Formats: sequence, C-alpha cells, structure tokens
Amino acid sequence: MTVSSTDLIHHGYVPPAGFGAPQPGVFKASTVFFPNVAAMRHFEWKDKTAYTYGLHGTPTSYTLEERLCTLEGGQQCLLVPSGLAAIATVSLALLKTGDEVLIPDNAYGPSKALAEAELRHWGISHQFYDALNPQDLAGKIGPNTRLVWLEAAGSVTLEFPDLIEQVRICQAAKVLCALDNTWGAGLAFAPFDLLPGAAQPLAVDISVHALTKYPSGGGDVLMGSVITRDPGLHMRLKLCHMRLGLGVAANDVEAVLRGLPSIQLRYTAHDQATRTLAQWCQTRPEFAQVLHPALANSPGHAHWLQVCQGDLGRAAGLLSVMFKPEYSQAQVDAFCDALALFEIGYSWGGPVSLVVPYDLASMRPSWPAHLARGTLVRLSIGLEAVEDLQADLAQALRRLV
Ligand SMILES: *Cc1c(COP(=O)(O)O)cnc(C)c1O
Repeated sequence: MTVSSTDLIHHGYVPPAGFGAPQPGVFKASTVFFPNVAAMRHFEWKDKTAYTYGLHGTPTSYTLEERLCTLEGGQQCLLVPSGLAAIATVSLALLKTGDEVLIPDNAYGPSKALAEAELRHWGISHQFYDALNPQDLAGKIGPNTRLVWLEAAGSVTLEFPDLIEQVRICQAAKVLCALDNTWGAGLAFAPFDLLPGAAQPLAVDISVHALTKYPSGGGDVLMGSVITRDPGLHMRLKLCHMRLGLGVAANDVEAVLRGLPSIQLRYTAHDQATRTLAQWCQTRPEFAQVLHPALANSPGHAHWLQVCQGDLGRAAGLLSVMFKPEYSQAQVDAFCDALALFEIGYSWGGPVSLVVPYDLASMRPSWPAHLARGTLVRLSIGLEAVEDLQADLAQALRRLV
C-alpha cells in the first residue's frame, strides 16, 4: 500500500504551540481557510480582526505593518510591491479627473514621470514647485489642488526643504500632504511629529517609504509602505489598494522583518561614514560643491537642523558631488568607472557603496541658482570601512588629470 495523497494533503499533525524564536513565523497564502461558512460570511479583513484572503493580509504582513507604524510614528500601514507603487497608490486613491497635484522640483524622478504620463492622461494636472521656497508652494495651491507631495531631502540634489512651513501651508489650505520619507526612514525625523514638544503635533497626512532602501538593508528586496494616522484617510487608501490588487510576497516581508531590527544601527553607521566622506570631499579641489544637508553650506542646511537635530541628529547615507565644469562628462564617467569598491547602480540602503552620474540639466527645466555648474555624481555610502571608501575615491580622482 502506498500512501494516499489525501493523507499527505489533509495531514492530522499539529505541532505544539508556544514556539518562540528571534524572527516571527512566515505565513504564505493565497487561500485562507474559514472554520465554517458563517465565519466566511462575517470575517472582516478591513479592521484586521481576521483573515479572508492572501491579498487582504496574513499574520506576516500584519506584523510588518505594525512594526513600520512604530518606526514612523503612524497608526495604519499598507504594504505595496515597491516604493514607486506606494507613490502611485496614494495618487490613484486620492486624485480624480480635474484635480491637481503639486510636486517638488527635486522629487524622485519616477514620481514626476507618473504625473507627466498616467496622471496627465487621466485628466489630473500637476505643477512642480520650488522645494526651497515655501511661498512658491503657497502660491501654486489652487482651488483644484488635492494633494501636495513633499520630499526631504530632495532626490539626487539633497536640498532640505522647510518641511515645517510646507506642512503648515498645506494645513492652512486644507490640502492633504504626502511625504516621501525614504531618506529620513523614520529615523532622521518623526514625520507625524515634526515639532516634538509642540502642543498640537505637526504631522504630514501620509508618509510613503521605499522599504527597498534602509528597512530591507540588503539591496535584494523591493517593497513600499503607505502610513497614515487617520482611519478615514487610511480606508480610502486601503480600498483603492485592495481594488488594484496590490500584494506583497511573504518571503519579501520576511526579508524586511529581518532587516528592521538593525535599521537604527545601520542608518547611524551609513550616516557617520557619509559625513566623514562629505567633509573630505569638501577639501578636494575637483569639486565645485558637495551636497549633504549636514554641511553648513549645503542648500537647506538650516531646515535640516530644525527637524533632524533633536536627540536624533541624523541624515541618510547619501551625498552628491558637483565636479567643476572643467571636467568633461567623459572624465567624470571615467572617474565612476575607476572606482573599485563603489559599484555603479541605482537605489541605495544596502551594504555596498554605489555611484551614479546624473545629467542634472535634463532633470530640471533650468539650472537651479543654488547649485554650482558642473557634472553631478551621487554617492550612496554602504557599510564598508570608511577609510577604504576614501582611499577608493582618492585613487579614482587621481586618474582625472
Ligand atoms: C528608491 C526610491 C523610491 C522608489 O522605491 P522603489 O522601491 O525602488 O520603487 C521612491 N522614493 C525615493 C525617494 C527613493 O529613493
């Protein structure tokens, strides 16, 4: 007699309860079983009191959502397949034909591209505002503005905006504001408590986070989150998220749950090494400008001090250098190619240092007045020994002459 497949599928063994280990168990499912038909009819996934279908949540996804709420100081969280999907979900859930969205001029590039293509096709207009001039934002909010995106620090050029004034402007105009909080990661500042100690907490409405970066920490996972502190707003986002069929794989959730306990240690290590290298870059004659919000002469430094100093005083592991205009694009490309430890690649937040040259002229309608002319290279500082990274930069610079 060979074994019956039924006995393998409907096996009676139940392991003893009470297993404990450093990482929570991983539950994988499309189908979720109900104990009976009445339960199937009445189980509620929207308030997370039960399970109904893999897309609607598992113990694994609920656990990550709760831990991310703790990280960012929020109360509700949605998980999506990438940081960009988090941005798209917010725009799709909250905007309709005839509405307008405002986006900072230094925003994450694909977020601008979404506005310029899909949102425009659906009759949703957008304007870019000067991230360093709150009055420009205030002046652009109009009767159809329904959403303002904020980003601190800005993508690639790392200007730090006057976040406090920007949020106040949105609140005074009664327009929702959503922050791309990937750089701050919940560690550089508290997006739902920008002025700790204030009688009324000053908070963004929505914080989106590319978990791809520091929460994962491995450079091997794509995921995003959308965090709120308002049940009604969360439900608008959640129902759209459900209708769009956005889900995340349990193995990926497990990887982020594994990265999360060490995020603070890693972020601090990235931050310290990055500041050391930023200061060293400032002494180098090849660079016209070094962009990092903790440098006194970097655009928006005073605003970084305002929201990131507190007891945290943190910045992410990114810095950009502007090569003097006398260096050609080919020379700057050769500098990037000559780096041995820095790999050429997008994204950031993992252990390996990365370098990307950017064509800033193609990213902005005109050259920003606060930026020196030249060729911009962004460095993402990994977890290698900082003296090795400095030596690598120095040897690649020596090849420029
Ligand atoms: C990387 C990044 C994203 C997008 O994250 P993906 O997971 O790569 O889609 C969004 N915003 C910022 C600021 C980022 O750095």
